[in-house]
Amino acid sequence: MLTDYRLQQREYLLQISRAMTARLDLPSVLQLIIQSAVEMLSGRAGLIALRQEDGNLSMEASYGVSGRTKDFFSPLFSDIPGMVSHLDPLHWTIPNLERKMHQVAQALGIGLTRVVALPMTIEDQLIGVVYVFRTGGIAFSRNDRQLLASFADQAAIAVQNARLYQQVSQEKARLDAIIEHSGDGVMILEPDRRVTVFNRALAATSYIPAQDAVGRFCYDVLHIDNAEPPGVDLCDKANVPIFHPASKPLYIEGDIRRGDGSFVTVGITYSPIFNSGGKLVNITASVRDITRFREAEEMKSTFISVISHELKTPVALIKGYAGTLNREDAEWDKQTIRESLVVIEEEADRLTELIDNLLDVSRLQAGALKLEIGFANMAHLAEKTVKKFRTQTSRHTFVLDFPPDLPTVPGDEGRLRQVLDNLLSNALKYSPDGGQIRVSGRADDRQVYIAVTDEGIGIPEDEQESIFDRFYRVRSGMSQRTKGAGLGLFLVNAVVKAHGGRVWVESQPGQGATFVFTLPRE
Ligand code: ADP
Repeated sequence: MLTDYRLQQREYLLQISRAMTARLDLPSVLQLIIQSAVEMLSGRAGLIALRQEDGNLSMEASYGVSGRTKDFFSPLFSDIPGMVSHLDPLHWTIPNLERKMHQVAQALGIGLTRVVALPMTIEDQLIGVVYVFRTGGIAFSRNDRQLLASFADQAAIAVQNARLYQQVSQEKARLDAIIEHSGDGVMILEPDRRVTVFNRALAATSYIPAQDAVGRFCYDVLHIDNAEPPGVDLCDKANVPIFHPASKPLYIEGDIRRGDGSFVTVGITYSPIFNSGGKLVNITASVRDITRFREAEEMKSTFISVISHELKTPVALIKGYAGTLNREDAEWDKQTIRESLVVIEEEADRLTELIDNLLDVSRLQAGALKLEIGFANMAHLAEKTVKKFRTQTSRHTFVLDFPPDLPTVPGDEGRLRQVLDNLLSNALKYSPDGGQIRVSGRADDRQVYIAVTDEGIGIPEDEQESIFDRFYRVRSGMSQRTKGAGLGLFLVNAVVKAHGGRVWVESQPGQGATFVFTLPRE
């Protein structure tokens, strides 16, 4: 008889642990446990109550009584002894349990006569109570209690598993969210280089939607041109990675071919992830758009080469002329001395201008270009500027074309003069064969338009936007032979923009150029 019992018990417990490993949800595992316990103990009903966050018990599974009667059972959940570590769970009792049961039975109108309750514990902490009820006269024996104890243990394990599982899934959801919203592109690969995660930032950088990437081999998804150093890019099918736990992350730089055929320069760090057994489980790739960084590097080297050239030339000339004039073995006539001093003065002016421009550019970068706004009379400013340039050239003729009633505009006269200065000096520089230089103005009800037109070498259409960039100089031979640091138009654009206006060029190679800028009247 006892062996039968044991067999039956074992059968139930086996069924329960199978249900647990099949990852059934907690309510149905608890349901199975209480049903098995009631059947094993020949009970009439049973229930499992779990401790809630506020410390109180609440019914989570029941058998033989309807779940809707939940509230009727609450008297059973009062005065529950807390810790049980010092006590054998088999001797654990709830004060006045039988009396409370009669109260419940009466309220429900069912004839419950006997009750047994056992604690569910995890690491000596009470996490719930299992109750089984009988109708009829037979009291629960010590043996019954022992039996129920094994079900209570199972229930406690099920609860703990569920809690751990919930914790792990919460943690996973948190990590997924962090990866998904990371500012850098992140891709996670299986050891065979299949893509399992392709985050939002990477989709945005590569123009490849995540659903087109996940599940495919990374070498079929990301194509990287000009990878540096060569031979280690994991998104190249030919490079089969060999990682071991001591491997350092791999870093490459290259150009990703985007979904729309364009390119973006990126740096990718591939890091292997090993499990505790030393087996490669994943490779993460973090992908960073380094276009700006590369541009900044290029800018820096252009800056150094342009500036060193632009600074060296005048200094060399000044030193050369000064040295020559200073030779003790030579007597110079007045004419030579004058001519040499003119060159020295001009070159010193060039240096000052370059240094001023550089200071302006660095002020601009620091966001500190301040305007002193007054009323600017553009016709008057243009006249003064042209007068200055007339003395510098005999090959050019100047025309001023302003209506007598051109309105004044709110503006910084000093800065606007700098704009005209730069545009006129370019008009002169880039029309080496001379010709007419025309400065004109007109107004509509919203803004004033100022144009500077020359008959010089002109500007190819595809470079007309770039000439306003820092250090940009047109690539043609003539432009390159002319002195300049590529800062003038950058400053023109900055000053005009600071006034709320706009500047652009209309030109064709060989046909001269017209630079137009606008200034709002209000
Ligand atoms: P730079 O010091 O080189 O003159 P700018 O910023 O003033 O620098 O001009 C940028 C480039 O735009 C010049 O190098 C030149 O190639 C081109 N450019 C500017 N103005 C003219 C013009 N009036 N005609 C032809 N090309 C011009």
